[in-house]
Amino acid sequence: MPSVGVPRETFEGERRVALVPELLADMGKRGLVVLVEKGAGEAAGFPDAAYEEKGAHLASRDEVFGADTILLVRCAGANPDRAKEDLPRLSERQTLVGLADPLGQPGHALELATTGARLFALELLPRTTRAQAMDVLSSMATVAGYKGVLMAAERLPRLFPMLVTAAGTVPPAKVLVVGAGVAGLMAIATAKRLGAVITAYDIRPAVKEEVESLGGRFLELGLEGGAGEGGYARAMDEGFYERQRRLLAEAVAQSDVVITTASVPGKPAPRLLTADMVRAMRPGSVIVDLAAERGGNCELTKPGKDVVDKGVTILGPANVPATVAYDASRMFARNLRTFLFHLLDSKAEDEILRDTLVTKGGEVVNARVREALGSPQPPSNPT
Ligand code: NAD
Repeated sequence: MPSVGVPRETFEGERRVALVPELLADMGKRGLVVLVEKGAGEAAGFPDAAYEEKGAHLASRDEVFGADTILLVRCAGANPDRAKEDLPRLSERQTLVGLADPLGQPGHALELATTGARLFALELLPRTTRAQAMDVLSSMATVAGYKGVLMAAERLPRLFPMLVTAAGTVPPAKVLVVGAGVAGLMAIATAKRLGAVITAYDIRPAVKEEVESLGGRFLELGLEGGAGEGGYARAMDEGFYERQRRLLAEAVAQSDVVITTASVPGKPAPRLLTADMVRAMRPGSVIVDLAAERGGNCELTKPGKDVVDKGVTILGPANVPATVAYDASRMFARNLRTFLFHLLDSKAEDEILRDTLVTKGGEVVNARVREALGSPQPPSNPT
């Protein structure tokens, strides 16, 4: 019977798990034997007993890594310090699925290739309607958008809602959301529920309606040309970003909270807030840079750190979804299950499998990853 292994995550601070007990019945129906490493779900709120109850076998790390398919939140480059410890456990009959940062850290994919195992990296899923149900980046962005607002509220020395009390009237906090994609829209919805007044900006004018339907005001900067192929943002030249920063400066200065989420697929995050723009904000204001892991939208952001500059707090949180590990794991696991069943059902390689397959037969076979490695010529053993 085909087997699926779920190891404990080893990346520091990673609390999520790649499979949750509620999905085990589905796995059983498909004839899959599931091996879960002891303690794998504990940090996310899923004790060993919950997996056992639903039919999983608790196992050692060696046993879990003996499964045909191994599901991970983070493998290869997405767990750069620890993933290599598991390489001796892998062989060419195995498949790994998870986040692997193959474009940011392609060297780790190259190392994994030497084991002969297949690696499917979920960051490389195409942005198509069919792939949406597998898209962990979107579901994790939803979690990050929500939590980013709570982080801001916790650090802001003001209240979010307008209050009319016997002690006087408290005006609502002003929140600016820069980048109204999946994370940004969730940030708008969350800040709205907390009672803030919200302004949002995105380079793609198409999101104006979505911003307004969530109760935000869409900031028009009169800049054209941000929408790229398939309706996604495209990278612009420095002159464009310079104009954008100039036009954004006033809105930033008037805000109590700025949540930035702007990114361009496969590129470093655009720099949209300069140190001068931050210093024009009122002391006590808070910036949460949700693009910190991709370099940050703010010049003062230090990924994984909190910075205070002239009274303004700039948070550059890393791995925000891991701070909401229970629901982030449930969402991640559902996406991963959909991908796994697609993989098991597919007779031939389709766009989803072709785009996400990174290693096979001892080589890096993915064209984008090969380019990132500086060896763009096709592999000797093409798939
Ligand atoms: P993202 O994480 O790549 O970027 C976040 C936001 O930053 C985007 O809205 C982008 O337009 C914006 N941005 C980029 N450069 C900017 C700049 N200079 N100034 C201001 N904003 C800037 O995007 P995302 O959240 O993943 O999604 C973007 C769109 O793609 C959404 O409409 C989403 O629904 C869609 N999407 C679809 C799929 C799918 O169909 N499978 C998957 C993911 C996203």
